Amino acid sequence: MTFNVENIRKDFPILERKINGKSLIYFDNAATSQTPISVIESISDYYKKYNANIHRGVHSVSEEATEAYESSRKKIQKHFNANFSEEIILTSGTTHSINIIANGYTDLLTSDDEIIVSGMEHHSNIVPWQMMVEKNHAKLSVIPLKENGELDIDHFKSIISEKTKIVFLNHVSNALGIINPIEEIIEISHRNGAVVLIDGAQSSAHFTIDLQKLDVDYFTASAHKLCGPTGIGFLYGKKNLLEKLTPLMGGGEMISDVTFEKTTYAELPHKFEAGTPNISGAIAFGYALDYINKIGLDNIYNYENELLNYATQSLKKIEGLKIYGDTNNKTSVISFNIENLHPYDIGSILDKFGIAVRTGQHCAQPIMDHFLISGTVRVSLSFINTKKEIDKLIEAINIAKTMLS
Ligand code: PLP
Repeated sequence: MTFNVENIRKDFPILERKINGKSLIYFDNAATSQTPISVIESISDYYKKYNANIHRGVHSVSEEATEAYESSRKKIQKHFNANFSEEIILTSGTTHSINIIANGYTDLLTSDDEIIVSGMEHHSNIVPWQMMVEKNHAKLSVIPLKENGELDIDHFKSIISEKTKIVFLNHVSNALGIINPIEEIIEISHRNGAVVLIDGAQSSAHFTIDLQKLDVDYFTASAHKLCGPTGIGFLYGKKNLLEKLTPLMGGGEMISDVTFEKTTYAELPHKFEAGTPNISGAIAFGYALDYINKIGLDNIYNYENELLNYATQSLKKIEGLKIYGDTNNKTSVISFNIENLHPYDIGSILDKFGIAVRTGQHCAQPIMDHFLISGTVRVSLSFINTKKEIDKLIEAINIAKTMLS
């Protein structure tokens, strides 16, 4: 498909909205991406035509719902190139997925073991592990950031050892947009006998991910960053590893046999999918992947890169503006501050112009501490944005500067 942003924008009903009398300019795509009409309609279709619980009924409507739910699992498997569909666990999103893994390792690790996290993480890839080490007393070490915001890989090489059992980090930083060298980190970790969990919440929307080629052990993403609905995502894990983990939640659907004396668990993937799942969300996630594949991730990557360069160059012309994590290998996220101005004040004025940006710590306080700041303004671009919108942002920032100075 040839990439035509004006045609693509017609698929997103929210872009017709006015905010404070101005056309919505949505630059908060890293928090949640917007949803195309085909995905929205897939949810209403489910409730209109085949709303039923899955895996349980012998009746036709339940069978249709089960088939659609399972077909989404297969679409995710294919899109991310997992070996087996049972390696794809449908979860409520990245946070849920990471909690499943951290909980699963609680009983497998002891105080003799070590785990390594990057200093560039979203809180959802920090807190579940802290909760884990409180119980098993494994040692948690951190890969520090260099001055420019990139990970200090030499430091990582100096702390990893045969004691290290898990290394976990994001593929792309939500606060800075920096793409981490995960291929190298996976290779070094495996050489030392450690498994790797990659948080793909911010990478999966921007470029192709091949799980088998990466040889990553665990990977997770959220549909709402990928043109899908909220409350649904997936956890990938190599089959032999997932089989060893105790499930986070017990309940219906995840069992093989239940007596008051003992319960045995169901096979993968059901072992990790207790209770009635987000059926319509899972189905819509499949439609979101269809939509993204129709446009093509290579087209998306190239266009977003063009927007990123244009926005970065334009923002750099504003006096007193400083970009954090301004490196060469980035997705379309720009985090900045303007001398003597509070990010919250800038964000509030931009909203008056219908421009949605995020301000604050972006659930990544250690990154803000690294740069000795309390927060930033974050502009996160996607393939539905245009250069014209970036021009309007620059205009509005200049007005905000005059108003606040
Ligand atoms: N990890 C990263 C890098 C993120 O950007 C986010 C959300 O912003 C999350 C994890 C958490 O995702 P969710 O809230 O969908 O569980």
